Amino acid sequence: MPRHFDGDTLVIATHNHGKLLEFKTVLLPYVRKIISAGELGLPEPKETGSTFAENATLKALAAAGAGVPALADDSGLCVNALGGKPGLFSARWCGSSKDPLIGMERVQLELGASPDRSAYFICVLALAWPDGHTEVVEGRCDGQIVWPPRGNNGHGYDPFFLPDGQSMTFGEMNPSQKQEISHRGQALKKMAALFTTA
Ligand code: IMP
Repeated sequence: MPRHFDGDTLVIATHNHGKLLEFKTVLLPYVRKIISAGELGLPEPKETGSTFAENATLKALAAAGAGVPALADDSGLCVNALGGKPGLFSARWCGSSKDPLIGMERVQLELGASPDRSAYFICVLALAWPDGHTEVVEGRCDGQIVWPPRGNNGHGYDPFFLPDGQSMTFGEMNPSQKQEISHRGQALKKMAALFTTA
C-alpha cells in the first residue's frame, strides 16, 4: 500500500521557479502550505545517482531532512539511436551557458543521418518523509526528434520534440496542452493520487 500524504505542509525540493509553479498548480488543492527548498535556504544536493529515480530520491530525502515531507523531481531526454543519451546528462549537454540550442544541436549532430529519430522524455517524482520513507512515480512521453526546432514556448529541448500522435512540438504548445501529455504531467497525475484521501 503506498503511503498517502496527510500533512499540511510540503517542501518542493527545487530551486527552479517554473517547476515550482507547475507543482503548486497541481498540488495546492490538497496541501495547505507549499514552500520551496530555495525559500527555506536548503542547499541543492549533488545529483550523484545513476538513475533518474536515484537522483529524485536523494533530492527529496535531503530536503525532508529539514523535518517536513518533500517532493523532488529528476527528468531528461533519452534518444533511442544514441543509446538513451543525453538522459541523466540532459542539462549538462546544454553547456555551462545552459543554452538549450547547444544541447539540441549536439543531439542533431550525433544523430546524423540515422533513420531512427525516436526519443522519450522521462520525469521521476519522489516524495520523501522525514522518517526516510519514499514514494516514487514515473511519467514518460514518447516522440520524435525534428529538425529544425519549432516553436518558442516551453523550455529546454521542447522545440525539437514532437510527441507521438501530435502535430505540434512541445515548443509550439501552450503550457496546458503540454502538461496534458508530457512526462511531468503524467508523473504529477500519478503523484496527485497520493495526496487525495485513500
Ligand atoms: P532536471 O530535471 O532539472 O535535471 O532537468 C534535466 C534537463 O532535461 C533539463 O535541463 C532539460 O534540458 C531537460 N528536460 C527535462 N524536462 C524537459 C521538458 O519538459 N522539456 C524540455 N527539456 C526538458
